[in-house]
Amino acid sequence: MSFSSNIKDELIKIENMPDCCIHAMAYGMLLFGRSFNSGAISLMTDNGNIAQKYMSVTEKASGILPFCSVSDAGKYSLEIPSKEDRMKVLSEFSMSGNERTLRIDRGNLLNDTVYDGENLSCCDGAFLRGAFLSCGTASDPNKSYHIEFVVPFKTLSMDLLKMLTDYGLKAKHMVRRYVNVIYIKDSESIEDLLTIMGAYNSAMEIMNIKIYKDVRNLTNRRNNFENANFSKTVDAAYDQLSAIMYLEEKGVIPTLEPDLKEIAELRIDNPEASLREIGELCSIKMSRSAVNYRLKRLVSISNSIKNSEESDASEAKDDE
Ligand SMILES: [Zn+2]
Repeated sequence: MSFSSNIKDELIKIENMPDCCIHAMAYGMLLFGRSFNSGAISLMTDNGNIAQKYMSVTEKASGILPFCSVSDAGKYSLEIPSKEDRMKVLSEFSMSGNERTLRIDRGNLLNDTVYDGENLSCCDGAFLRGAFLSCGTASDPNKSYHIEFVVPFKTLSMDLLKMLTDYGLKAKHMVRRYVNVIYIKDSESIEDLLTIMGAYNSAMEIMNIKIYKDVRNLTNRRNNFENANFSKTVDAAYDQLSAIMYLEEKGVIPTLEPDLKEIAELRIDNPEASLREIGELCSIKMSRSAVNYRLKRLVSISNSIKNSEESDASEAKDDE
Protein backbone atom coordinates (compact mmCIF):
# COMPACT_ATOMS: atom_id res chain seq x y z
CA MET A 1 0.00 0.00 0.00
CA SER A 2 1.24 3.50 -0.79
CA PHE A 3 1.98 5.99 1.99
CA SER A 4 -0.99 8.04 0.80
CA SER A 5 -3.41 5.14 1.14
CA ASN A 6 -1.89 4.24 4.53
CA ILE A 7 -2.77 7.75 5.75
CA LYS A 8 -6.30 7.47 4.36
CA ASP A 9 -6.73 4.03 5.87
CA GLU A 10 -5.66 5.39 9.24
CA LEU A 11 -8.03 8.38 8.98
CA ILE A 12 -10.98 6.19 7.99
CA LYS A 13 -10.44 3.93 10.99
CA ILE A 14 -10.80 6.73 13.53
CA GLU A 15 -13.88 5.80 15.55
CA ASN A 16 -15.99 7.27 18.33
CA MET A 17 -15.96 10.80 17.02
CA PRO A 18 -18.21 13.21 18.92
CA ASP A 19 -21.16 14.60 16.92
CA CYS A 20 -19.44 17.96 16.46
CA CYS A 21 -16.54 16.21 14.69
CA ILE A 22 -18.75 13.96 12.52
CA HIS A 23 -20.47 17.14 11.33
CA ALA A 24 -17.11 18.81 10.65
CA MET A 25 -15.70 15.76 8.86
CA ALA A 26 -18.80 15.47 6.65
CA TYR A 27 -18.41 19.17 5.82
CA GLY A 28 -14.76 18.62 4.83
CA MET A 29 -15.57 15.60 2.62
CA LEU A 30 -18.55 17.30 0.93
CA LEU A 31 -16.93 20.71 0.43
CA PHE A 32 -13.75 19.23 -1.10
CA GLY A 33 -15.62 16.65 -3.18
CA ARG A 34 -16.28 17.00 -6.88
CA SER A 35 -19.29 19.29 -6.44
CA PHE A 36 -21.16 20.77 -3.52
CA ASN A 37 -24.01 23.02 -4.65
CA SER A 38 -27.73 22.90 -5.36
CA GLY A 39 -27.13 21.39 -8.84
CA ALA A 40 -24.90 18.52 -7.70
CA ILE A 41 -23.33 17.03 -4.62
CA SER A 42 -20.83 14.39 -5.67
CA LEU A 43 -17.50 12.68 -5.17
CA MET A 44 -15.49 10.26 -7.33
CA THR A 45 -13.03 7.92 -5.68
CA ASP A 46 -11.36 4.60 -6.38
CA ASN A 47 -11.27 3.76 -2.67
CA GLY A 48 -14.33 1.84 -1.50
CA ASN A 49 -13.67 2.69 2.15
CA ILE A 50 -13.67 6.41 1.35
CA ALA A 51 -16.96 5.96 -0.53
CA GLN A 52 -18.42 4.26 2.54
CA LYS A 53 -17.16 6.98 4.86
CA TYR A 54 -18.63 9.71 2.63
CA MET A 55 -21.99 7.97 2.83
CA SER A 56 -21.95 7.34 6.56
CA VAL A 57 -20.78 10.79 7.73
CA THR A 58 -23.13 12.58 5.32
CA GLU A 59 -26.02 10.51 6.59
CA LYS A 60 -25.09 11.04 10.24
CA ALA A 61 -24.66 14.80 9.78
CA SER A 62 -27.69 15.51 7.57
CA GLY A 63 -29.98 12.47 7.57
CA ILE A 64 -29.45 12.05 3.80
CA LEU A 65 -27.69 8.92 2.50
CA PRO A 66 -25.77 9.56 -0.76
CA PHE A 67 -26.26 7.12 -3.64
CA CYS A 68 -23.24 5.08 -4.69
CA SER A 69 -22.50 3.35 -8.00
CA VAL A 70 -19.37 1.49 -9.12
CA SER A 71 -18.01 1.52 -12.66
CA ASP A 72 -16.45 -1.52 -14.36
CA ALA A 73 -13.07 0.10 -13.80
CA GLY A 74 -13.75 0.10 -10.03
CA LYS A 75 -14.44 3.83 -9.68
CA TYR A 76 -16.96 4.75 -7.03
CA SER A 77 -19.31 7.55 -7.92
CA LEU A 78 -21.26 9.16 -5.10
CA GLU A 79 -24.11 11.57 -5.55
CA ILE A 80 -27.32 12.92 -4.08
CA PRO A 81 -29.77 12.68 -6.97
CA SER A 82 -32.74 14.56 -5.51
CA LYS A 83 -32.62 18.34 -5.40
CA GLU A 84 -34.74 18.38 -2.25
CA ASP A 85 -32.19 16.15 -0.51
CA ARG A 86 -29.31 18.30 -1.72
CA MET A 87 -30.98 21.40 -0.29
CA LYS A 88 -31.36 19.61 3.04
CA VAL A 89 -27.66 18.73 3.12
CA LEU A 90 -26.63 22.27 2.13
CA SER A 91 -28.85 23.86 4.77
CA GLU A 92 -27.27 21.59 7.38
CA PHE A 93 -24.07 23.55 6.67
CA SER A 94 -25.81 26.95 6.56
CA MET A 95 -25.65 27.16 2.78
CA SER A 96 -28.44 28.35 0.48
CA GLY A 97 -27.18 26.59 -2.65
CA ASN A 98 -26.88 29.97 -4.40
CA GLU A 99 -23.34 30.68 -3.24
CA ARG A 100 -21.24 32.18 -6.03
CA THR A 101 -18.08 30.61 -4.69
CA LEU A 102 -17.39 27.88 -2.18
CA ARG A 103 -15.76 29.08 1.03
CA ILE A 104 -14.75 27.43 4.29
CA ASP A 105 -17.33 28.55 6.83
CA ARG A 106 -15.60 27.98 10.15
CA GLY A 107 -19.00 28.28 11.80
CA ASN A 108 -19.46 24.67 10.70
CA LEU A 109 -16.57 23.58 12.90
CA LEU A 110 -18.92 23.59 15.84
CA ASN A 111 -16.63 22.97 18.74
CA ASP A 112 -14.32 25.93 18.95
CA THR A 113 -12.75 24.96 22.28
CA VAL A 114 -9.13 25.87 21.93
CA TYR A 115 -6.68 23.40 23.39
CA ASP A 116 -2.93 23.04 23.77
CA GLY A 117 -2.61 26.79 23.55
CA GLU A 118 -2.99 26.45 19.78
CA ASN A 119 -5.65 27.98 17.62
CA LEU A 120 -7.13 24.57 16.98
CA SER A 121 -10.19 22.55 18.02
CA CYS A 122 -11.21 18.89 17.72
CA CYS A 123 -13.45 19.85 14.79
CA ASP A 124 -10.61 21.50 12.85
CA GLY A 125 -8.80 18.15 12.77
CA ALA A 126 -11.97 16.30 11.75
CA PHE A 127 -12.67 18.83 8.99
CA LEU A 128 -9.16 18.50 7.53
CA ARG A 129 -9.47 14.71 7.81
CA GLY A 130 -12.58 14.88 5.63
CA ALA A 131 -10.93 17.28 3.17
CA PHE A 132 -7.86 15.04 2.86
CA LEU A 133 -9.99 11.94 2.21
CA SER A 134 -11.78 13.78 -0.62
CA CYS A 135 -8.88 15.51 -2.34
CA GLY A 136 -5.55 14.79 -0.64
CA THR A 137 -2.47 12.78 -1.54
CA ALA A 138 1.00 12.38 -0.07
CA SER A 139 4.34 11.16 -1.46
CA ASP A 140 6.37 8.30 -0.05
CA PRO A 141 8.57 10.05 2.56
CA ASN A 142 11.46 7.74 1.61
CA LYS A 143 11.53 9.59 -1.69
CA SER A 144 10.33 13.10 -0.88
CA TYR A 145 8.37 15.05 1.71
CA HIS A 146 5.19 16.23 0.03
CA ILE A 147 1.51 16.33 0.93
CA GLU A 148 -1.18 18.10 -1.05
CA PHE A 149 -4.85 18.96 -1.45
CA VAL A 150 -6.08 19.30 -5.03
CA VAL A 151 -8.87 21.88 -5.02
CA PRO A 152 -10.87 22.80 -8.14
CA PHE A 153 -11.75 26.29 -6.91
CA LYS A 154 -9.32 29.13 -6.31
CA THR A 155 -11.19 30.84 -3.46
CA LEU A 156 -11.74 27.59 -1.62
CA SER A 157 -8.05 26.70 -2.02
CA MET A 158 -7.05 30.10 -0.59
CA ASP A 159 -9.34 29.55 2.42
CA LEU A 160 -7.67 26.20 3.02
CA LEU A 161 -4.23 27.78 2.67
CA LYS A 162 -5.20 30.41 5.24
CA MET A 163 -6.47 27.76 7.63
CA LEU A 164 -3.25 25.72 7.40
CA THR A 165 -0.96 28.72 7.75
CA ASP A 166 -3.01 29.89 10.74
CA TYR A 167 -1.84 26.69 12.45
CA GLY A 168 1.75 27.65 11.65
CA LEU A 169 2.07 25.03 8.90
CA LYS A 170 4.33 25.93 5.98
CA ALA A 171 1.68 25.45 3.30
CA LYS A 172 1.90 26.95 -0.20
CA HIS A 173 -0.31 27.40 -3.26
CA MET A 174 0.38 26.52 -6.88
CA VAL A 175 -1.62 25.97 -10.04
CA ARG A 176 -1.03 22.66 -11.80
CA ARG A 177 -2.84 21.99 -15.07
CA TYR A 178 -5.58 24.51 -14.28
CA VAL A 179 -6.27 23.19 -10.78
CA ASN A 180 -5.28 24.77 -7.50
CA VAL A 181 -2.96 22.76 -5.32
CA ILE A 182 -2.28 23.51 -1.66
CA TYR A 183 0.87 21.66 -0.69
CA ILE A 184 3.44 21.27 2.08
CA LYS A 185 7.05 20.18 1.61
CA ASP A 186 8.40 20.97 5.07
CA SER A 187 8.65 17.62 6.88
CA GLU A 188 7.79 19.03 10.32
CA SER A 189 4.69 20.75 8.95
CA ILE A 190 3.66 17.46 7.31
CA GLU A 191 4.07 15.66 10.64
CA ASP A 192 2.01 18.38 12.33
CA LEU A 193 -0.75 18.20 9.73
CA LEU A 194 -0.94 14.40 10.03
CA THR A 195 -1.10 14.74 13.80
CA ILE A 196 -3.86 17.37 13.58
CA MET A 197 -5.85 15.06 11.28
CA GLY A 198 -5.31 12.12 13.65
CA ALA A 199 -2.93 10.06 11.47
CA TYR A 200 -0.47 9.51 14.33
CA ASN A 201 1.15 6.36 12.90
CA SER A 202 1.84 8.04 9.59
CA ALA A 203 3.31 11.06 11.38
CA MET A 204 5.52 8.66 13.36
CA GLU A 205 6.60 6.90 10.18
CA ILE A 206 7.90 10.19 8.77
CA MET A 207 9.78 10.88 12.02
CA ASN A 208 11.36 7.41 11.89
CA ILE A 209 12.41 7.84 8.28
CA LYS A 210 13.94 11.19 9.20
CA ILE A 211 15.88 9.64 12.09
CA TYR A 212 17.10 6.88 9.79
CA LYS A 213 18.21 9.47 7.24
CA ASP A 214 19.92 11.49 9.98
CA VAL A 215 21.84 8.47 11.23
CA ARG A 216 22.89 7.59 7.70
CA ASN A 217 23.97 11.19 7.27
CA LEU A 218 25.98 11.09 10.47
CA THR A 219 27.68 7.91 9.34
CA ASN A 220 28.64 9.61 6.11
CA ARG A 221 29.84 12.64 8.02
CA ARG A 222 31.90 10.48 10.36
CA ASN A 223 34.06 9.63 7.34
CA ASN A 224 34.47 13.28 6.63
CA PHE A 225 36.60 14.83 9.35
CA GLU A 226 36.36 18.19 7.64
CA ASN A 227 32.95 18.56 9.20
CA ALA A 228 33.32 20.80 12.20
CA ASN A 229 29.96 20.17 13.83
CA PHE A 230 30.28 16.44 13.81
CA SER A 231 33.85 16.41 15.06
CA LYS A 232 32.73 18.77 17.84
CA THR A 233 30.21 16.15 19.00
CA VAL A 234 32.85 13.43 18.76
CA ASP A 235 35.37 15.62 20.59
CA ALA A 236 32.90 16.27 23.42
CA ALA A 237 32.19 12.55 23.80
CA TYR A 238 35.91 11.77 23.68
CA ASP A 239 36.74 14.49 26.24
CA GLN A 240 34.08 13.18 28.60
CA LEU A 241 35.24 9.60 28.37
CA SER A 242 38.90 10.47 28.80
CA ALA A 243 38.06 12.73 31.77
CA ILE A 244 36.20 9.85 33.45
CA MET A 245 39.06 7.44 32.71
CA TYR A 246 41.42 9.94 34.30
CA LEU A 247 39.22 10.20 37.42
CA GLU A 248 39.13 6.42 37.60
CA GLU A 249 42.90 6.19 37.29
CA LYS A 250 43.28 8.69 40.13
CA GLY A 251 40.82 6.72 42.28
CA VAL A 252 38.48 9.72 42.53
CA ILE A 253 35.26 8.07 41.33
CA PRO A 254 34.32 6.33 44.63
CA THR A 255 34.60 9.69 46.41
CA LEU A 256 32.20 11.53 44.06
CA GLU A 257 28.62 12.51 44.91
CA PRO A 258 26.33 9.53 44.22
CA ASP A 259 24.72 10.93 41.05
CA LEU A 260 28.08 11.85 39.50
CA LYS A 261 29.54 8.50 40.50
CA GLU A 262 26.65 6.67 38.85
CA ILE A 263 26.93 8.65 35.60
CA ALA A 264 30.70 8.10 35.49
CA GLU A 265 30.31 4.35 35.95
CA LEU A 266 27.50 4.11 33.40
CA ARG A 267 29.60 6.03 30.87
CA ILE A 268 32.55 3.67 31.30
CA ASP A 269 30.34 0.58 31.02
CA ASN A 270 28.38 1.96 28.02
CA PRO A 271 30.78 3.98 25.90
CA GLU A 272 28.50 3.79 22.83
CA ALA A 273 25.25 4.75 24.55
CA SER A 274 23.55 8.06 23.81
CA LEU A 275 22.94 10.56 26.62
CA ARG A 276 19.27 9.63 26.57
CA GLU A 277 20.08 5.94 26.97
CA ILE A 278 22.39 6.67 29.88
CA GLY A 279 19.62 8.72 31.50
CA GLU A 280 17.32 5.70 31.17
CA LEU A 281 19.87 3.43 32.84
CA CYS A 282 20.17 5.62 35.95
CA SER A 283 18.61 4.31 39.17
CA ILE A 284 16.46 7.44 39.16
CA LYS A 285 15.82 8.17 35.47
CA MET A 286 17.41 11.39 34.19
CA SER A 287 16.77 13.58 31.17
CA ARG A 288 19.32 13.94 28.42
CA SER A 289 20.23 17.42 29.64
CA ALA A 290 20.60 16.25 33.26
CA VAL A 291 23.06 13.59 32.06
CA ASN A 292 24.89 16.13 29.94
CA TYR A 293 25.16 18.52 32.89
CA ARG A 294 26.75 15.81 35.06
CA LEU A 295 29.15 14.76 32.32
CA LYS A 296 30.29 18.37 32.03
CA ARG A 297 30.82 18.49 35.80
CA LEU A 298 32.94 15.35 35.60
CA VAL A 299 35.08 16.97 32.89
CA SER A 300 35.55 20.09 35.00
CA ILE A 301 36.46 18.05 38.12
CA SER A 302 39.02 16.13 36.11
CA ASN A 303 40.38 19.37 34.64
CA SER A 304 40.78 20.98 38.04
CA ILE A 305 42.64 17.91 39.39
CA LYS A 306 44.87 17.94 36.32
CA ASN A 307 45.54 21.67 36.71
CA SER A 308 46.45 21.42 40.36
CA GLU A 309 48.77 18.49 39.64
CA GLU A 310 50.41 20.43 36.85
CA SER A 311 50.95 23.46 39.05
CA ASP A 312 52.39 21.20 41.81
CA ALA A 313 54.70 19.73 39.21
CA SER A 314 55.81 23.12 37.96
CA GLU A 315 56.37 24.39 41.53
CA ALA A 316 58.48 21.32 42.17
CA LYS A 317 60.39 22.09 39.02
CA ASP A 318 60.89 25.73 40.15
CA ASP A 319 62.26 24.43 43.46
CA GLU A 320 64.88 22.38 41.69
ZN1 LIG B 1 -15.40 18.31 17.38
